[in-house]
Amino acid sequence: MPPPDDHSAAQARAAIQAALAQIGFCPPGTITIRHARCGKPRCACPADPPSPHGPYTQWTRTVKGKTVTRLLTPAQYQACAPRFANARRLRALTAELQALSLQEMARAEGWATITPGTQAPPRTKLARVPNHPIPPKTPGDQPA
Ligand SMILES: [Zn+2]
Repeated sequence: MPPPDDHSAAQARAAIQAALAQIGFCPPGTITIRHARCGKPRCACPADPPSPHGPYTQWTRTVKGKTVTRLLTPAQYQACAPRFANARRLRALTAELQALSLQEMARAEGWATITPGTQAPPRTKLARVPNHPIPPKTPGDQPA
């Protein structure tokens, strides 16, 4: 793939933005389909061949910093599946836009593309920003 110029990067960004504009409701979190073994002594789930319980449709998301999991009935999942598909599409488009942004930043700033196994370009030393002045430790040091 040739390195994008300004124009092709702008076109790619416009395409991502157009796709973003088409996205409908997209709930947070991810859907996982699980099978489970219950651990009851006489259940057939751990047998050979196993016949685990499920499938269970599990919706996992973060609410106020905590992971929250909710099981969805098949009917609930059917009703919400297009929205979860939207959410996956949103994540894919976001990842695409982030990758394009990195590429474009590197191009615009003249940063070398770092290829694994090659030597990294020399670092630019950043100017140190002075901290706030240290307050005096004793009252006597304070200015009049
Ligand atoms: Zn079981």
